[in-house]
Amino acid sequence: MTSKLWDADPDPAPDVPVARPRLPTADDILPYLREIDANRWYSNNGSLNQRFQEALRARIAAGHVVCLANATLGLALALMAQKPAKGSLCMMPSWTFAASAHAAVLAGLVPWLVDVDPNTQQLLPEAAAELLRQAPGKVGAVMPVMPFGGPLGAANWDRFKGDTGLAVAIDAAAAFDTLTPSRVPAVVSLHATKALGIGEGCFIASDDGALIDEIMKGANFGFANSREAAAPALNGKLSEYGAAVGLAALEAWPHTRAAYRRVATGYRRWLGSISGLSLPDGFGERWISSTVTVGLPIGSMDRTLTALMDAGIGVRRWWGGGLHRHAAFEHFPRAPLPVTEMLVATQLGLPCWTDLPDEAISRICSILGEAVTAG
Ligand SMILES: *Cc1c(COP(=O)(O)O)cnc(C)c1O
Repeated sequence: MTSKLWDADPDPAPDVPVARPRLPTADDILPYLREIDANRWYSNNGSLNQRFQEALRARIAAGHVVCLANATLGLALALMAQKPAKGSLCMMPSWTFAASAHAAVLAGLVPWLVDVDPNTQQLLPEAAAELLRQAPGKVGAVMPVMPFGGPLGAANWDRFKGDTGLAVAIDAAAAFDTLTPSRVPAVVSLHATKALGIGEGCFIASDDGALIDEIMKGANFGFANSREAAAPALNGKLSEYGAAVGLAALEAWPHTRAAYRRVATGYRRWLGSISGLSLPDGFGERWISSTVTVGLPIGSMDRTLTALMDAGIGVRRWWGGGLHRHAAFEHFPRAPLPVTEMLVATQLGLPCWTDLPDEAISRICSILGEAVTAG
């Protein structure tokens, strides 16, 4: 086995870790736990789940929201609910997290790994329509991904879904701050490392109420209004304890967002003066995320990694070498991936957490500046 820098966290205990999530404290959650004690209702669409869903729905102005166990199951369920033909292809960018492909496989589909647009790092609907003509088999579904939480034109995917009749599920796992609702189901992760973290969980937003009902059925043994399993299904529900953390996390969201924004604007300020480095469009201005991914000049990745690691700075190539390099996915069909390869060679995750000191940000940026200009 060859070891690649993206295979593992190179230094398991850096001085400045790449992520250091902070979720609601025990005191923040306690009032909600007492409610659960009083209700004696622990899962199955309990009152805390209903309130959490309604609060999320109102916040992002979606027609319907359902909370589930995690985004990997959520993506699988969002695909399954649209009933794409078993064994058909699910077009998705190779430039994403492993969960996107696992979800398609869980839904009985075969990931077809395609390239992304260099500016947005996304599969765009126009490119997807073009790719459909060159498909290596029958395409049943498409999974667009919002890279590192960056914004996506959901209305265009809505139109694509209408025009093609294909199943479409948006991997919006990191996009709590940027999601704009449409009829296409969008799956937002509530994992501890995401912007709105509750530990494990996700929500799916869509303006299509019948589709959300179908997803709920798929997440609850195929039961709708009776205890008859109407179709293949699984258990993907979020417990009342998860919803309790979620309600406390939503209360704290203005503070959490402001803290991530401080970090993002800090990086933007320092990195703006270094030529050759780039941050995603609008990051720290129009949107935030729980990760910071900087674009390095081509050919500077290795020496930048070494310089940061030597200084005790945690780094992460969040999406490694692309899906096509994972042993679990390397046999899946793929289109040419030149942009993905460019992103693999240039995109680096830097420390990002709500109380990351300003001093650490300026130090990281000056190390980066020296490393990229050393070439
Ligand atoms: C975090 C993430 C997931 C997985 O979310 P879970 O809730 O942990 O299952 C999927 N896709 C992307 C792009 C992610 O960043």
